[in-house]
Amino acid sequence: MAAALGVQLIPSPEEIMQILKRTGAFREGHFVYPTGKHTAHYFQMPLAFRYYDTARVLAVALSRKFRVNRDIASQLPKVSIISPSSGGIPVAFGVRDALSAQQIYWAEQENGKRMYRQYVNQGDINPCIIVDDIIRSGHAIEETVELVRGLGSSITGCGAIVRFTSAPDQVEGVKIESLVEFDAKYYESAEACSECKKGVPEEHVRF
Ligand SMILES: [Zn+2]
Repeated sequence: MAAALGVQLIPSPEEIMQILKRTGAFREGHFVYPTGKHTAHYFQMPLAFRYYDTARVLAVALSRKFRVNRDIASQLPKVSIISPSSGGIPVAFGVRDALSAQQIYWAEQENGKRMYRQYVNQGDINPCIIVDDIIRSGHAIEETVELVRGLGSSITGCGAIVRFTSAPDQVEGVKIESLVEFDAKYYESAEACSECKKGVPEEHVRF
């Protein structure tokens, strides 16, 4: 009976954060970005997705947010799952699997520009669900919306495992779903940083 109930449940944000902490995808300490900003927290989401079982739990949970949406449910399986970047690819495959959606695309950075692989615009173009591992600023999602428009497709859903509360909560009138809403706090400089004042050793992160 517990298993039957479990199929219906979406883990709580606290449970998701525990998974992210356990796998090292959420880290607490003292981090310095290439931009010079300091933080006391850092997400490196692929660390959660390197474990197949964890990746599956996260992707299935996100897929349930889409499954309960009648617009999306009525369009399945003729839906494309789209990732803005490589970090979202395991999310896209997991969500596709859970929803039995027909297609997956992902964008990549080529010469500093986000784009799909050549010829992706050929064949059937389905309504799209954009998924990512984490939404920090929302820029990647916004650029991907432009790519989806370029395909002549519509956006039927959007979501990520984690969304920073400073990012948009909707695109094109579609709500951005997430398993965790995280209030990210940055210090603009070392002078402003509480962790610097406490003397916590710094770790430099690449992005
Ligand atoms: Zn600092």
